[in-house]
Amino acid sequence: MYLKSLTLKGFKSFASATTLRFEPGITCVVGPNGSGKSNVVDAIAWVLGEQGAKALRGGKMEDVIFAGTTGRAPLGRAEVTLTIDNSDGALPIEYSEVSITRRMFRSGEGEYEINGDRCRLLDVQELLSDSGIGREMHVLVGQGKLDSYLHARPEDRRAFIEEAAGVLKHRKRKEKALRK
Ligand code: ATP
Ligand code: MG
Repeated sequence: MYLKSLTLKGFKSFASATTLRFEPGITCVVGPNGSGKSNVVDAIAWVLGEQGAKALRGGKMEDVIFAGTTGRAPLGRAEVTLTIDNSDGALPIEYSEVSITRRMFRSGEGEYEINGDRCRLLDVQELLSDSGIGREMHVLVGQGKLDSYLHARPEDRRAFIEEAAGVLKHRKRKEKALRK
């Protein structure tokens, strides 16, 4: 499983549809300050279901929608599509390529799609829950985040690792079963 491409449309500084294609292995995004590198990372977090405006470096959720520049009017919606190569079947779905889309309008309304079919955020989360791309987004390590992992209490650090490894879900299920 690897990220194949990312398309941004009206997301933050990406007013026109922009597609980035990735190959297996390491990809580096380089560019001057303020050119949109971190916005690319924000788009990945957002399309995977990030609900916190702060985690996306904004004040409110609407801040992900292109706000306009001197030469260009603001847009009414943001849309991001992330395409994941699933030819190894790591995601529990019968497709060798999985596209997840998230859209948001200025009204605050939003929607998700998996391979073009409308779905709930929960469906996206369930699809990804065994892949190590958990709800807490430990796959995205932001600036300064490394420090908080290093200084975390051992129990918390263990929880990070368990979520990244996809075992947290099983621990929760076990705890629930033992309570019965
Ligand atoms: P650095 O190297 O300093 O980390 P960067 O390449 O990571 O820079 P970003 O933080 O991704 O840069 O991009 C910041 C730019 O995105 C700013 O110019 C900001 O005005 C623009 N931007 C952020 N949100 C929006 C929005 N909603 N509409 C238009 N532009 C936006
Ligand atoms: Mg940056």
